[in-house]
Amino acid sequence: MYKDYQKHLSTILKEIKEAGLYKNERIIVSPQGAEIELNTGQKVLNFCANNYLGLSSNPDLIEAAKASLDDHGYGMSSVRFICGTTDLHKELEKKIADFFGTEDAILYAACFDANGGVFEPLLTEEDAIISDSLNHASIIDGVRLCKAHRYRYENADMEDLEKQLQLAQAQRFRIIVTDGVFSMDGNVAPLDKIVELANKYNSMVMVDESHSAGVVGKTGRGVTELYNIPGKVEIITGTLGKAFGGAIGGFTTGKKEIIEILRQRSRPYLFSNSIPPMVAAAGIRVIDMMTDTNALQDKLHWNSEYFISAMKKLGFDIKPTKSAICAVMLYDAKLSQDFALKLLDEGIYVTGFYYPVVPKGQARIRVQLSAAHEKEHLDKAVKAFGKIGKELGILK
Ligand SMILES: *Cc1c(COP(=O)(O)O)cnc(C)c1O
Repeated sequence: MYKDYQKHLSTILKEIKEAGLYKNERIIVSPQGAEIELNTGQKVLNFCANNYLGLSSNPDLIEAAKASLDDHGYGMSSVRFICGTTDLHKELEKKIADFFGTEDAILYAACFDANGGVFEPLLTEEDAIISDSLNHASIIDGVRLCKAHRYRYENADMEDLEKQLQLAQAQRFRIIVTDGVFSMDGNVAPLDKIVELANKYNSMVMVDESHSAGVVGKTGRGVTELYNIPGKVEIITGTLGKAFGGAIGGFTTGKKEIIEILRQRSRPYLFSNSIPPMVAAAGIRVIDMMTDTNALQDKLHWNSEYFISAMKKLGFDIKPTKSAICAVMLYDAKLSQDFALKLLDEGIYVTGFYYPVVPKGQARIRVQLSAAHEKEHLDKAVKAFGKIGKELGILK
C-alpha cells in the first residue's frame, strides 16, 4: 500500500512547493531572545517571536525552573486527576485566576488544548456558539468538536454580531467567542461592545487572550483590562507559550463552576499529560514578576509605540493596532517574501505573510515587538526597513 500512498503524498508536497507555500524552518542555535544566532552563523535581531515580555531566556525564570527540577523532578508521567497534580500546579492556577480577576483556573498542555477542550463539555446541540471569523485555528477546531449550533460574524463587526445573536435566540444558552488580539492585524476585539451585546441578547462571552495577556492593558492583564471590564466575561483562555515565558502550556480561567466541569469532562485535560513542574514553577515566577513591577509591560508599550510611529513617519502603511503586532502592508505576496529576505541580509528577522494565511491581496510583513528589544535594536530595524523600502520602490 505505502508505495501508492507515497506517490500521493509526493504529489501533494510538490503542489505545495509549486504554489510557493512550502514552509521552511530556520534553525536557531542560541537561546531565544532579541538577538539570536542561526545555524548559518548569522546573528540577527528577532522581530518575529511571541516573546512579548522578553522572558523566554530570563535568568530568574531559568533559576526557578532549575530549582524546581531539584525539588519536584522532571516529568509528571500522569494526567492531573490520577497522580499529576503538584503544589506548583495548584499555585499557578490560583495565580492565574488572581491575575485576571477570575474565580478559578485550569491548566492544559497548550492553549490549543484549552480551546480544543472548552466547548464540548459545556454546550450541547441545544446551545449556540457565535464565533468571530478570524478566530484562531484552535477555537475553530474546538467548536467543531462540539454539537452546539454555530454562528459566525465578520471580524470585529458588531452589526453582524448583533444579527447572529438575534438568530441564536433560537437556542438555549449562547456564548460569543473572540480572540483578544487578532494575530495577523494586531487589532483588538471590541470587547466592551461585545459584552454590551451579550447583556442585551442574554449571552455569555469567551475571550482568548493568547496574544493579549502580558501585552494589552496598562498592567498586561489583557483586553478585559483595556476596556476596564475585569470579571465581566465568563471564560478566558490563554497560553504560557507567548508573553508568559514562552515555554509551553495553556489555561482556561473564569467562573468557578465552568472550571469545575472542565476538570471533570474536558478531554485534553483528562487524557493528556500534566505540564512539567519546572514550567509551572517558572509560570508562577512570571506572574509574580508581572505583579511586583510593571517595568516589562511599560517597556513593551514604549517599544511598540516608538517603532510603529517611526515606521509611519517613514511612510509605511501600517494596520491600525493596539497590541505589540505591527503589520506592514505590502499587498503583494512576492514582494513580502523579497522584502523579508532582504531584511534578513540586513540582520533583521521578520516573516512575510500572504494568502492563504491572510486574505488575497493583503500580503504583509508582521513585526512583533518585545520588551527584550533595546532602542538601538528598534532603530536598526527601522533603518533597515527604510533602506529596503526605498530599494524595492515602496518608499519615495
Ligand atoms: C498561539 C495561540 C494559541 C495556541 O497557543 P499554544 O499554547 O501555543 O497552543 C491559541 N489561541 C491563540 C489566539 C493564539 O494566538
